[in-house]
Amino acid sequence: NFKKSLGQNFLTDINVLHNIVDAAEISEEDDVIEVGPGIGALTEQLAKRAHQVMAFEIDERLIPVLKETLAPYDNITVVQQDILKTNLEQQIEAHFDGHHQLKLVANLPYYITTPIIMHLLESGIHFDAIVVMMQKEVAQRLTAEPGTKDYGSLSIAVQYYTDAKIAFIVPKTVFVPQPKIDSAVVRLTPQKPVKQPQDEQAFMQLVKGSFAHRRKSLWNNLLGIYGKDPATKERLEKVLAQVGIEKSIRAERLTISQFIDLSNGLIEND
Ligand code: SAM
Repeated sequence: NFKKSLGQNFLTDINVLHNIVDAAEISEEDDVIEVGPGIGALTEQLAKRAHQVMAFEIDERLIPVLKETLAPYDNITVVQQDILKTNLEQQIEAHFDGHHQLKLVANLPYYITTPIIMHLLESGIHFDAIVVMMQKEVAQRLTAEPGTKDYGSLSIAVQYYTDAKIAFIVPKTVFVPQPKIDSAVVRLTPQKPVKQPQDEQAFMQLVKGSFAHRRKSLWNNLLGIYGKDPATKERLEKVLAQVGIEKSIRAERLTISQFIDLSNGLIEND
């Protein structure tokens, strides 16, 4: 009786559970937030190693099961809420003492992997590590480097906030029910951005717009964002020259730092 719509694929392999907890280096020093505990298999392994665990599960039908499975542990709080709607900061303050590291570990519901990750990164909450399982394809996009086919606005959005690495691949056979594709565990280690955009929103818009048509040059995508009138073209050409980016290049070649330079240059020459 699984809910496909809620992305319910439960992990059954104890080794994989251990590997996830290891990838997050969970110890007594850590308070851990889990998204989507399901029937509590990962939650239990987290509770054995962490100081406190707080798990957010949207599906009310799972709450009694969780309560029963997790009854032997006195360091777990289950909250029946949508992770995207809960006031996370308030929950952290209510349940954690603030004297431990804060980590987030989850086997994410795959239909909202990206919204959840962006929600966490944009929340401003300081996480010491975020270790999450997702579809392998999404993991490859999150961790992609410039010049590769997987590199795009998602890679940049995530790598702007974190150092993103695939920890290990997980075959689809260890889930019930079995999904169609393999998964990967990704470790995101929050870090200060390489440099500061003057306007974060303008920077993100520039990045999204630059990848709007992947086969077009950066230049043509820029005209798509900012317009084609002669004054705009002149301004774009001037800024590109200033920051040392060639017109004919494709967006997938640009590093985060170059996108930030470009965004700042456009603001300064406005
Ligand atoms: N952690 C379990 C495991 O590894 O076996 C279950 C993982 S399953 C892939 C995802 C879980 O997230 C499901 O239990 C689902 O009900 C829950 N979920 C889906 N959307 C959610 C949301 N918006 N907020 C919190 N939990 C959610």
